Amino acid sequence: MAEQVVNTPEETIGWAKRAQSVFTVPKPTRFVACGCAECSDHQQTLLAADVETVTLSDLGHSALNPLNFATPAGLKYYFPALVRLTLQYAEEEILQALLSVLRDGRGGKNPFWESSTAGQRNFVADFLGHIIETHAGELDLAGVTDEVLWAYERWSQDSRSESVQ
Ligand SMILES: [Zn+2]
Repeated sequence: MAEQVVNTPEETIGWAKRAQSVFTVPKPTRFVACGCAECSDHQQTLLAADVETVTLSDLGHSALNPLNFATPAGLKYYFPALVRLTLQYAEEEILQALLSVLRDGRGGKNPFWESSTAGQRNFVADFLGHIIETHAGELDLAGVTDEVLWAYERWSQDSRSESVQ
C-alpha cells in the first residue's frame, strides 16, 4: 500500500531553510581530508555542486556517497541538502545517505556529532523526530526504522545541556 506523502513542498522548503539557518557554514574549498584517487573524485563532486542544487544522484549512492568521506565542516555545509532530499524522496537511498552521516564510526566516535553545537544537535534530533512522526511508512519500507530511532536518541544526547563551540 502506498503511503501518503505528508510533506508539502512548502514544508520541505521550510525544513531546508531552518537547516540552513542552523548550519551556517561557508562552502569549504576542501571537503575530504584524504588525497587518494577515490577521495579526489568525491572532492570534485562536492566542490562542483552546492547545498541548494545538489541532487539525489550526486549524493544517493549508499556506500559511495561522497559525504561518507567528507570532513565535519563539509557535512555541516551539505546537511541542509540532506534534509531537503530526505523530505523530497523519503526512500531507501536518501535515508541511507542521511543515516550514514549521522551514525557513529569506528570506536563509537562521531566527529560530526562532536563538532556540532547544541543548536545543531537539537535541529538534527527535531528533524529525525519529524520524519519518525510523518514518514513512518517510508522508514519501514526502507527498513531503517530502528536505525532512525537510534540516531534520534544519539543526536538528542546532551543536546540541551552541553554547549560545544
Ligand atoms: Zn582516500
